[in-house]
Amino acid sequence: MKVVVLVGGVGGARFLVGLKSLLGAPEHEVTAVVNTGDDVWMHGLRITPDLDTCMYTLGGGIDVERGWGRADESWTVKEELAKYGAEPTWFGLGDRDIATHLVRTRMLRAGYPLSAVVEALCHRWQPGVRLLPMSDDRVETHVVVSEGDETRAIHFQEWWVKHRAALPAQSFASVGAESATAAPGVVDAILEADVVLLAPSNPVVSVGTILAVPGIRDALRKTEAGVVGLSPIIGGKPLRGMADACLTAIGVETSAEAVGRLYGSRKTTEGGVLDGWLVHTGDRCDVPGVAVRAVPLLMSDVDATAAMARAALELAGVSVG
Ligand code: GDP
Ligand code: CA
Repeated sequence: MKVVVLVGGVGGARFLVGLKSLLGAPEHEVTAVVNTGDDVWMHGLRITPDLDTCMYTLGGGIDVERGWGRADESWTVKEELAKYGAEPTWFGLGDRDIATHLVRTRMLRAGYPLSAVVEALCHRWQPGVRLLPMSDDRVETHVVVSEGDETRAIHFQEWWVKHRAALPAQSFASVGAESATAAPGVVDAILEADVVLLAPSNPVVSVGTILAVPGIRDALRKTEAGVVGLSPIIGGKPLRGMADACLTAIGVETSAEAVGRLYGSRKTTEGGVLDGWLVHTGDRCDVPGVAVRAVPLLMSDVDATAAMARAALELAGVSVG
C-alpha cells in the first residue's frame, strides 16, 4: 500500500510514528509531504523546523518533552551569540541541532536542492518514511500584524516563537508560493497513492501552506486515492500550540467542523480536498459531501496513534491486515 501524508511539525511527526508502526511491513510505503513555510535564515543558517521535527521524531533523535530539537541538547552557541548581542536571540538553536543546520546550509550553498539535502540528512536518521519537502523553492509564511497604528508583515517564526502568536494576526501570506513548484516526487506520489491523509497538523500554517503550492491541491483533487483528514481540533481547542490564533486570523471558527469545511469536499466544494474527515469522539460535525466519523483522536501513545491511522485508512476505503 502507498500512503501519502501532508504534515507539519509536531502533530504531523507524531501521527507519522503511529502510521509507521501500523504499516511496518516492507510492502507498504509511506511518503510525507512536509511543510516548509516555517523555514528561515538565521545567523547565516538555513533552518527547516517541520522537516527536522519529522526527521528527528521518526529517527529517534527528538527531545520528546519539548517536541522539537534534539534530545540531550546543550545551548552553548546560543548563549555565546546572545553575549555578542547577535539577533535574533529568541530562537532555540541547540548545539547538536546546529550541526544539522550547518550540513544543510553547506549543501544548499553548493547548489543542491532542498529535497536532495533532506535525502542526505535522512541517511543518518533512517526515518523509515520518505520525507519530501513540499517544494524546493523558497516559500515563507509571513504574518500581517498590527501594533498600535502600525501594520507590518513579520516572518512566521517571529510571530510564533518570539510573540507566542499573541500579536493579533490580520492575515497570512505564503511569500513565493505563486511562483513555486512542488518538489520532485510530490505530485507523482499523490497521483500514484492508494490513500492520501491530511495529518492532524495546523490547518492554516502547515496543511494550508502545503495546499498553497501550485499543483498540490490539483493533485489531491485528481488522484484516484481516497483523501481523508484528521482533525487537530478537539472540543473546540487545538491540542498544543496556537492553531486557534491562526484560524481566527483567517476568519474560521476553532472547531473540527469549521476546519473540515475549510478543507471542503472533493465532490461538492470548489477546490475541496476531502472524501473523509475524522473528528474526536463526541465532537459534533457535519461537512457537506464528506463522510465524517468520530473516533478517539488523542495521540497519547504510539498504539493510540496507530489506531487513528487505521481508522483513517478504513474511512478511505482500504483495510490493513
Ligand atoms: P507544528 O508545525 O509543530 O505546529 O505541528 P503541526 O502543524 O504538524 O501540528 C500542530 C497541530 O497538532 C496542533 O494544531 C494540534 O492541535 C495538533 N495536535 C497535537 N497533538 C494532537 C493530538 O494528540 N491529537 C490531535 N487530533 N491533534 C493534535
Ligand atoms: Ca510548523
